[in-house]
Amino acid sequence: MDCCICGPMASVFRSPRNTICTSCYEGGRSMIAFLNMHEVDGAVDRSRDSVQLQSNSTKGILQAWNYMNEMKNHQEEMKERMDFLEGFSVAFREKMHADIELKAGNGVPIPAHRALLATRSEIFQTMLDWDEFKAPSSDTISLPELSHEELQCLLQFLYSGSLSSENTEQHVYSMLVAADKYDIPFLKKLCEKRILGSLDASNALEVLEISEICSNKILKESAMSSIVKHMEEIVFSPGFERFALKNAHLCVEITRALFRENKDKKLGGTSQHASFT
Ligand SMILES: [Zn+2]
Repeated sequence: MDCCICGPMASVFRSPRNTICTSCYEGGRSMIAFLNMHEVDGAVDRSRDSVQLQSNSTKGILQAWNYMNEMKNHQEEMKERMDFLEGFSVAFREKMHADIELKAGNGVPIPAHRALLATRSEIFQTMLDWDEFKAPSSDTISLPELSHEELQCLLQFLYSGSLSSENTEQHVYSMLVAADKYDIPFLKKLCEKRILGSLDASNALEVLEISEICSNKILKESAMSSIVKHMEEIVFSPGFERFALKNAHLCVEITRALFRENKDKKLGGTSQHASFT
Protein backbone atom coordinates (compact mmCIF):
# COMPACT_ATOMS: atom_id res chain seq x y z
CA MET A 1 0.00 0.00 0.00
CA ASP A 2 1.39 3.37 -1.12
CA CYS A 3 0.22 5.27 1.98
CA CYS A 4 0.57 9.06 1.81
CA ILE A 5 1.04 9.21 5.61
CA CYS A 6 3.47 6.43 6.54
CA GLY A 7 4.68 5.09 3.15
CA PRO A 8 8.31 5.44 1.97
CA MET A 9 7.30 8.24 -0.47
CA ALA A 10 5.16 10.11 2.11
CA SER A 11 7.61 13.04 2.31
CA VAL A 12 7.29 13.84 -1.39
CA PHE A 13 3.50 13.53 -1.67
CA ARG A 14 1.44 16.70 -1.75
CA SER A 15 -2.20 17.00 -0.66
CA PRO A 16 -4.82 16.22 -1.72
CA ARG A 17 -4.00 12.57 -2.03
CA ASN A 18 -6.37 9.79 -1.11
CA THR A 19 -4.24 6.69 -0.66
CA ILE A 20 -4.00 5.87 3.03
CA CYS A 21 -3.27 2.54 4.72
CA THR A 22 -5.63 0.87 7.19
CA SER A 23 -3.35 1.56 10.13
CA CYS A 24 -3.19 5.32 9.44
CA TYR A 25 -6.90 5.44 8.66
CA GLU A 26 -7.91 3.67 11.88
CA GLY A 27 -5.32 5.61 13.91
CA GLY A 28 -6.58 8.92 12.53
CA ARG A 29 -10.19 8.04 13.25
CA SER A 30 -9.31 6.96 16.80
CA MET A 31 -7.48 10.24 17.41
CA ILE A 32 -10.41 12.31 16.14
CA ALA A 33 -12.78 10.23 18.28
CA PHE A 34 -10.52 10.84 21.27
CA LEU A 35 -10.51 14.60 20.61
CA ASN A 36 -14.27 14.66 20.22
CA MET A 37 -14.83 12.58 23.33
CA HIS A 38 -12.66 14.88 25.42
CA GLU A 39 -13.66 18.01 23.50
CA VAL A 40 -10.03 18.84 22.78
CA ASP A 41 -8.90 21.35 20.15
CA GLY A 42 -5.20 21.11 20.93
CA ALA A 43 -5.24 24.22 23.08
CA VAL A 44 -3.91 23.88 26.58
CA ASP A 45 -4.39 26.40 29.35
CA ARG A 46 -0.92 26.42 30.85
CA SER A 47 -1.94 28.73 33.68
CA ARG A 48 -3.66 25.78 35.32
CA ASP A 49 -2.16 22.74 36.96
CA SER A 50 -3.86 20.37 34.58
CA VAL A 51 -4.43 20.31 30.88
CA GLN A 52 -7.53 22.36 30.20
CA LEU A 53 -9.69 20.83 27.50
CA GLN A 54 -11.57 23.21 25.26
CA SER A 55 -14.28 22.59 22.73
CA ASN A 56 -14.08 23.35 19.06
CA SER A 57 -16.36 22.36 16.21
CA THR A 58 -13.71 21.28 13.66
CA LYS A 59 -11.03 18.81 14.66
CA GLY A 60 -8.41 17.08 12.58
CA ILE A 61 -5.19 15.14 12.95
CA LEU A 62 -3.25 18.42 13.02
CA GLN A 63 -5.14 19.36 16.18
CA ALA A 64 -4.37 15.92 17.58
CA TRP A 65 -0.71 16.51 16.84
CA ASN A 66 -0.82 19.92 18.61
CA TYR A 67 -2.50 18.31 21.56
CA MET A 68 0.10 15.53 21.69
CA ASN A 69 2.86 18.14 21.72
CA GLU A 70 1.19 20.07 24.52
CA MET A 71 0.72 16.85 26.48
CA LYS A 72 4.41 16.04 26.04
CA ASN A 73 5.39 19.49 27.36
CA HIS A 74 2.94 19.10 30.21
CA GLN A 75 4.41 15.70 31.04
CA GLU A 76 7.92 17.17 31.14
CA GLU A 77 6.72 19.93 33.48
CA MET A 78 5.07 17.32 35.69
CA LYS A 79 8.32 15.35 35.82
CA GLU A 80 10.27 18.46 36.82
CA ARG A 81 7.67 19.16 39.50
CA MET A 82 7.92 15.58 40.77
CA ASP A 83 11.72 15.87 40.91
CA PHE A 84 11.29 19.12 42.86
CA LEU A 85 8.89 17.46 45.31
CA GLU A 86 11.30 14.55 45.75
CA GLY A 87 12.76 16.73 48.52
CA PHE A 88 10.03 15.41 50.84
CA SER A 89 11.29 11.86 50.39
CA VAL A 90 14.84 13.00 51.11
CA ALA A 91 13.63 14.72 54.30
CA PHE A 92 12.04 11.44 55.36
CA ARG A 93 15.03 9.26 54.45
CA GLU A 94 17.52 11.58 56.12
CA LYS A 95 15.22 12.29 59.12
CA MET A 96 15.76 15.98 58.33
CA HIS A 97 14.24 18.33 60.96
CA ALA A 98 11.76 15.63 61.99
CA ASP A 99 9.44 16.86 64.74
CA ILE A 100 7.35 13.81 65.62
CA GLU A 101 7.70 10.03 65.84
CA LEU A 102 5.28 7.36 64.75
CA LYS A 103 5.24 4.09 66.64
CA ALA A 104 4.01 0.88 65.04
CA GLY A 105 2.95 -2.28 66.91
CA ASN A 106 6.57 -3.44 66.90
CA GLY A 107 10.02 -2.02 66.26
CA VAL A 108 11.51 1.37 66.92
CA PRO A 109 9.58 4.63 66.34
CA ILE A 110 9.98 6.29 62.92
CA PRO A 111 10.73 10.04 62.77
CA ALA A 112 8.39 12.14 60.57
CA HIS A 113 7.10 15.66 60.08
CA ARG A 114 3.87 16.98 61.60
CA ALA A 115 3.10 19.38 58.73
CA LEU A 116 3.37 16.68 56.10
CA LEU A 117 1.24 14.20 58.02
CA ALA A 118 -1.42 16.87 58.58
CA THR A 119 -1.59 17.75 54.88
CA ARG A 120 -1.82 14.12 53.76
CA SER A 121 -4.57 12.96 56.10
CA GLU A 122 -7.30 14.77 57.98
CA ILE A 123 -7.26 11.99 60.54
CA PHE A 124 -3.57 12.62 61.24
CA GLN A 125 -4.32 16.34 61.39
CA THR A 126 -7.02 15.75 64.00
CA MET A 127 -4.73 13.42 65.96
CA LEU A 128 -1.96 16.02 65.92
CA ASP A 129 -4.32 18.81 66.96
CA TRP A 130 -5.73 16.62 69.70
CA ASP A 131 -2.26 15.61 70.92
CA GLU A 132 -1.14 19.18 71.04
CA PHE A 133 -4.27 20.21 72.87
CA LYS A 134 -4.18 17.35 75.37
CA ALA A 135 -0.47 16.93 75.82
CA PRO A 136 1.79 19.57 74.28
CA SER A 137 4.88 17.58 75.17
CA SER A 138 3.67 14.45 73.37
CA ASP A 139 5.79 13.77 70.30
CA THR A 140 4.69 10.25 69.41
CA ILE A 141 1.67 8.91 67.56
CA SER A 142 0.90 5.22 68.02
CA LEU A 143 -0.41 3.10 65.16
CA PRO A 144 -0.46 -0.30 66.87
CA GLU A 145 -2.45 -1.99 64.09
CA LEU A 146 0.51 -1.61 61.71
CA SER A 147 3.78 -3.51 61.79
CA HIS A 148 7.01 -1.54 61.58
CA GLU A 149 7.42 -2.49 57.90
CA GLU A 150 3.84 -1.49 57.10
CA LEU A 151 4.25 1.88 58.82
CA GLN A 152 7.49 2.46 56.92
CA CYS A 153 5.63 1.66 53.70
CA LEU A 154 2.75 4.02 54.59
CA LEU A 155 5.16 6.85 55.40
CA GLN A 156 7.10 6.30 52.19
CA PHE A 157 3.83 6.71 50.32
CA LEU A 158 2.83 9.84 52.23
CA TYR A 159 6.19 11.45 51.42
CA SER A 160 6.55 10.30 47.80
CA GLY A 161 2.98 9.71 46.57
CA SER A 162 3.91 6.30 45.19
CA LEU A 163 4.22 2.69 46.24
CA SER A 164 7.19 0.66 45.06
CA SER A 165 6.33 -2.64 43.39
CA GLU A 166 8.01 -4.50 46.25
CA ASN A 167 5.94 -2.63 48.84
CA THR A 168 2.78 -3.14 46.82
CA GLU A 169 3.34 -6.86 46.60
CA GLN A 170 3.96 -7.21 50.33
CA HIS A 171 1.65 -4.63 51.88
CA VAL A 172 -1.15 -3.72 49.49
CA TYR A 173 -3.91 -5.08 51.76
CA SER A 174 -2.63 -3.38 54.90
CA MET A 175 -2.14 -0.15 52.90
CA LEU A 176 -5.77 -0.31 51.76
CA VAL A 177 -6.91 -0.73 55.36
CA ALA A 178 -4.63 2.16 56.42
CA ALA A 179 -5.92 4.33 53.55
CA ASP A 180 -9.45 3.68 54.74
CA LYS A 181 -8.68 4.25 58.42
CA TYR A 182 -6.62 7.42 57.93
CA ASP A 183 -8.73 8.71 55.05
CA ILE A 184 -6.10 8.86 52.29
CA PRO A 185 -8.18 8.64 49.06
CA PHE A 186 -5.20 8.60 46.67
CA LEU A 187 -3.64 5.61 48.43
CA LYS A 188 -7.03 3.90 48.49
CA LYS A 189 -7.39 4.38 44.73
CA LEU A 190 -3.91 3.01 44.01
CA CYS A 191 -4.47 -0.05 46.22
CA GLU A 192 -7.88 -0.73 44.68
CA LYS A 193 -6.35 -0.60 41.21
CA ARG A 194 -3.50 -2.96 42.10
CA ILE A 195 -5.81 -5.41 43.90
CA LEU A 196 -8.31 -5.48 41.02
CA GLY A 197 -5.44 -5.97 38.58
CA SER A 198 -4.26 -9.10 40.37
CA LEU A 199 -7.63 -10.50 41.44
CA ASP A 200 -8.01 -14.22 40.66
CA ALA A 201 -9.08 -17.50 42.26
CA SER A 202 -5.95 -17.60 44.43
CA ASN A 203 -6.68 -14.36 46.30
CA ALA A 204 -10.42 -13.72 45.85
CA LEU A 205 -11.26 -14.82 49.42
CA GLU A 206 -8.58 -12.56 50.85
CA VAL A 207 -9.83 -9.64 48.75
CA LEU A 208 -13.40 -10.30 49.89
CA GLU A 209 -12.26 -10.32 53.52
CA ILE A 210 -10.37 -7.02 53.10
CA SER A 211 -13.24 -5.42 51.18
CA GLU A 212 -15.52 -6.20 54.12
CA ILE A 213 -13.10 -4.62 56.60
CA CYS A 214 -12.88 -1.45 54.47
CA SER A 215 -16.55 -1.47 53.37
CA ASN A 216 -15.25 -1.28 49.80
CA LYS A 217 -18.15 -2.00 47.45
CA ILE A 218 -16.10 -2.15 44.22
CA LEU A 219 -13.68 -4.74 45.62
CA LYS A 220 -16.46 -6.70 47.27
CA GLU A 221 -18.46 -7.04 44.06
CA SER A 222 -15.39 -7.97 42.03
CA ALA A 223 -14.17 -10.50 44.61
CA MET A 224 -17.63 -12.04 44.87
CA SER A 225 -17.87 -12.37 41.08
CA SER A 226 -14.46 -14.03 40.98
CA ILE A 227 -15.39 -16.45 43.79
CA VAL A 228 -18.63 -17.44 42.08
CA LYS A 229 -16.76 -17.91 38.79
CA HIS A 230 -14.08 -20.11 40.38
CA MET A 231 -16.29 -21.66 43.06
CA GLU A 232 -15.18 -25.27 42.71
CA GLU A 233 -11.48 -24.42 42.81
CA ILE A 234 -11.98 -22.11 45.81
CA VAL A 235 -14.23 -24.38 47.89
CA PHE A 236 -11.68 -27.21 47.74
CA SER A 237 -8.69 -24.95 48.43
CA PRO A 238 -6.97 -25.16 51.86
CA GLY A 239 -7.75 -21.51 52.58
CA PHE A 240 -11.51 -21.89 52.33
CA GLU A 241 -11.91 -23.67 55.66
CA ARG A 242 -9.94 -20.99 57.49
CA PHE A 243 -11.97 -18.32 55.70
CA ALA A 244 -15.29 -20.02 56.55
CA LEU A 245 -14.43 -20.31 60.24
CA LYS A 246 -13.60 -16.61 60.40
CA ASN A 247 -16.24 -15.22 58.06
CA ALA A 248 -19.51 -17.09 58.46
CA HIS A 249 -21.57 -14.12 57.25
CA LEU A 250 -19.49 -13.83 54.06
CA CYS A 251 -19.99 -17.54 53.41
CA VAL A 252 -23.73 -16.92 53.58
CA GLU A 253 -23.32 -14.12 51.01
CA ILE A 254 -21.20 -16.36 48.76
CA THR A 255 -23.83 -19.10 48.91
CA ARG A 256 -26.59 -16.64 48.00
CA ALA A 257 -24.52 -15.17 45.14
CA LEU A 258 -23.85 -18.68 43.82
CA PHE A 259 -27.52 -19.55 44.07
CA ARG A 260 -28.48 -16.42 42.12
CA GLU A 261 -25.86 -17.14 39.49
CA ASN A 262 -27.15 -20.69 38.99
CA LYS A 263 -30.72 -19.42 38.85
CA ASP A 264 -29.75 -16.88 36.18
CA LYS A 265 -28.03 -19.60 34.17
CA LYS A 266 -31.11 -21.81 34.35
CA LEU A 267 -33.27 -18.92 33.17
CA GLY A 268 -30.86 -18.47 30.27
CA GLY A 269 -29.76 -15.04 31.40
CA THR A 270 -26.22 -13.94 32.02
CA SER A 271 -25.34 -12.33 35.31
CA GLN A 272 -22.90 -9.46 34.85
CA HIS A 273 -22.19 -9.12 38.54
CA ALA A 274 -22.73 -11.49 41.40
CA SER A 275 -25.21 -9.75 43.64
CA PHE A 276 -25.28 -10.13 47.38
CA THR A 277 -27.02 -8.71 50.36
ZN1 LIG B 1 -0.13 4.66 6.53
